[in-house]
Amino acid sequence: MATGEVNDFPLSDNFRLREFQCACCGQVKLHPYLVQRLQALRERLGRPVLINSGYRCKKHNAAVGGAPQSLHLEGMAADIRVAGIAASKLGHLSEALGFTGIGIYPGFVHVDIRPGKARW
Ligand SMILES: [Zn+2]
Ligand SMILES: [Zn+2]
Repeated sequence: MATGEVNDFPLSDNFRLREFQCACCGQVKLHPYLVQRLQALRERLGRPVLINSGYRCKKHNAAVGGAPQSLHLEGMAADIRVAGIAASKLGHLSEALGFTGIGIYPGFVHVDIRPGKARW
């Protein structure tokens, strides 16, 4: 008998695919480099990096007010938070570890792996 749940398996030492799936439908699309950089961030911090939002389908992206060209639609972005670490500090660290798009919000940081750089 098959056990376990769809998408519930490890992608790296500290992340499971399930953490990145769309909150509304469970679909997921994910770039391996995003996971690699998040794992590097996790190891640098030595504490859990929580994924508020990973992949978003078009419908969910629109529902949460995401940009029409959001990299969440491509599996190349995540909104993250780390208990006890301010968003501004997390943003700096993320940039140093190779994320190219960084957005600071109250309580979380958007990170992505776009070509070129963007900071907001
Ligand atoms: Zn969805
Ligand atoms: Zn985001």
